[in-house]
Amino acid sequence: MKDRLPVIFVGHGNPMHAILESNFSRGLTALASRIERPKAILCISAHWMTEGTWVTHMPKPKTIHDFYGFPKPLFDVQYPAPGSPTIAEQISQLIKYPRIQLDDDTWGFDHGTWAILRHMYPDADIPVLQMSLDMNATSDQHFKLGQELRRLREEGVLIVGSGNVVHNLRQFKPEVNATPYPWALEFDEWLKQQLVSRNYDSIINDSMTMRSGQLSSPTPDHWYPLFYVLGASDDRDSLKFEYEGIEHASISMRTFSLGMNA
Ligand code: ZN
Repeated sequence: MKDRLPVIFVGHGNPMHAILESNFSRGLTALASRIERPKAILCISAHWMTEGTWVTHMPKPKTIHDFYGFPKPLFDVQYPAPGSPTIAEQISQLIKYPRIQLDDDTWGFDHGTWAILRHMYPDADIPVLQMSLDMNATSDQHFKLGQELRRLREEGVLIVGSGNVVHNLRQFKPEVNATPYPWALEFDEWLKQQLVSRNYDSIINDSMTMRSGQLSSPTPDHWYPLFYVLGASDDRDSLKFEYEGIEHASISMRTFSLGMNA
């Protein structure tokens, strides 16, 4: 490994992106092509919500279709990447707090992981691990766990947070190109500015005191993966917005990298 790997936040949006050719999917493919081949990928997906923090420990994680009402081709998708029990055990030993528990039979890859990785690494030949979101943890605790993960970047692990910085399904409109809600635009732009100025304290502490923040993340699941990416980065990492745009009026596709220093 010449250098440490970047960290990536992907706004995964509608599960249909998994099987669509779009500027978004092509952007993910291009993004992966600019990254040195990882030894493994650790994905923190919005869709694995638990008590305590867990990491997948199985050698062959299953592909989970954790949605309903979508066309059959989406249910037919498999992402047969191997897991890595060894790296899961290393992560569990490396991090003393919080305790990282090993999952042998509950989870696998949910669509927060496979819907993006099949565009980034279509050959599914790089080991992938998922880490769960402890829904009892605060934003600050998620951020601190991200800091603990930072050292993995030097060992060839690509850390990917998969969520959406604006994700309000109650206000979701069926048309992809529906005019975004003003609060969605406002919060997405605010977040962008905080990232540019590296004002992570404000993202951790102020975002959900804002009306636009509350409307953008009425539940925290798609918001928390962001903190792992921020925590796993530091001042040496250059920020690059890889994709942006609001779909279905209330879903931000904002995707960015930190540490893509080329
Ligand atoms: Zn999602």
